[in-house]
Amino acid sequence: MKTPLRLLKQISATLLFTLIALTFSPTQAADGKPNFIVIFADDLGYGDLSCFGHPTITTPNLDQMAAEGQKWTNFYVAACVCTPSRAGLLTGRLPIRNGMCSDTRRVLFPNSAGGLPPTEITIAKFLKQNGYQTAAIGKWHLGHLPQYLPTSHGFDSYYGIPYSNDMDRIVKGSNVDLANKEDYKAYDLPLMRNTEVIERPVDQRTITKRYTEEAVKFIHHAQEKGDSAKPYFIYLAHNLPHVPLFRSEKFKDSSLAGIYGDVIAEIDWSVGQVMKAVKETSEKSPHSQTYVIFTSDNGPWLTYKTHGGSAGLLRDGKGSTWEGGMREPTAMWAWPKQVNSGVVQEMGSTLDLLPTFASLMGAKLPNDRTYDGYDLSPVLLGTGPSQRKEMFYYHGAQLFAVRSGQYKAHFKTKTSYVKGKKMEEHNPPLLYHLGHDPSEKYDISKDHPDIIEKIKQLAAEHKAGIKPVKNQLLGKIEG
Ligand code: MG
Repeated sequence: MKTPLRLLKQISATLLFTLIALTFSPTQAADGKPNFIVIFADDLGYGDLSCFGHPTITTPNLDQMAAEGQKWTNFYVAACVCTPSRAGLLTGRLPIRNGMCSDTRRVLFPNSAGGLPPTEITIAKFLKQNGYQTAAIGKWHLGHLPQYLPTSHGFDSYYGIPYSNDMDRIVKGSNVDLANKEDYKAYDLPLMRNTEVIERPVDQRTITKRYTEEAVKFIHHAQEKGDSAKPYFIYLAHNLPHVPLFRSEKFKDSSLAGIYGDVIAEIDWSVGQVMKAVKETSEKSPHSQTYVIFTSDNGPWLTYKTHGGSAGLLRDGKGSTWEGGMREPTAMWAWPKQVNSGVVQEMGSTLDLLPTFASLMGAKLPNDRTYDGYDLSPVLLGTGPSQRKEMFYYHGAQLFAVRSGQYKAHFKTKTSYVKGKKMEEHNPPLLYHLGHDPSEKYDISKDHPDIIEKIKQLAAEHKAGIKPVKNQLLGKIEG
């Protein structure tokens, strides 16, 4: 039995140890959990940032973020259109596993009855269970009915447009003409605060600015208590540069790249504001650590010509499983302790964010479901390589292509959004070496039957692990 004196000594020692640990831990909040911010653009192309080679779009803040942090050149989304891509990012699971993809209705619409099933565990739900404050700001597109909104999926608060900014159109005219006329009233779009509509039609000209102000306010408020504040997660999903294009007065005619360049300049400004807020708040809470990830939900909407973006040297764009549809310009940055800075040419995916965050905060993912992501924290911290060696490319509910290492095999292809273009099947599949030929120009299938066999095997194993689930995109609200 311990004497009172020994017990007192032991308690004092424990207290002293805790105090030292708190004082000298350089990168972690008081409870050891970092903050996470995901900034998600809509329909931004691989070639649309100056740090990814665009000659007339200027993105100084994203360039700085990529230079101080990591620029990822082989980073993929979970699908080539909005709804399934977002479902993949937030759950760490391919949308085929939760019914969030379809061959006919490829995304959710204002008359859709479905949404992300409540049984799914989003990044927000997972982090909230682990003591986080959580906020969704911006485009949702995972179901606009109350049971599917962010506040039903682990977010403490929501401020944004619940689907795409070209929906609810009430006048005739093209998205290009209406944007050129700045006719935001042509779209009867709702802006929501939690579960209430607070503005309709939303003035899209100031939407990027308002999302940014909301995020900056949240960062400052979340860190009000300094080191004793709860860690936070912000999902900042811009509605732009999805058409119709709108930007605030300050950015009008600011870019050599026209209205599209103006929109990207404003998003870049927004990124700078977020980084500034992170730096300011970290001065008040010196033991905090914040990770910021920037990427986009799918490639550029090419049929909109100069109102759509550019995939740079990658082939095709939004809606297709060519590289331009699913490989995104991505930067990862942290403050005050930087990630292992440099260009990362290894593979990563939005599917990896949930496992990566879980690892960085020191928690285990539930083991009752299949995840499609890998922990990328060794790459961020510079302690090891990416575990992601393959990528599965879905078009709707069909597996169109598989990447294994530098080789990518296309079993099916389709140029999306172009009338009259039919899906083509390829047997043997088309084969490209993405290292030698990132533009997918030169089919080398004839030279590598062994690699095709290996990728076929990988596809078969993957398909065998997919269980049929209820489709969420087909149902419509009655009446
Ligand atoms: Mg999109």
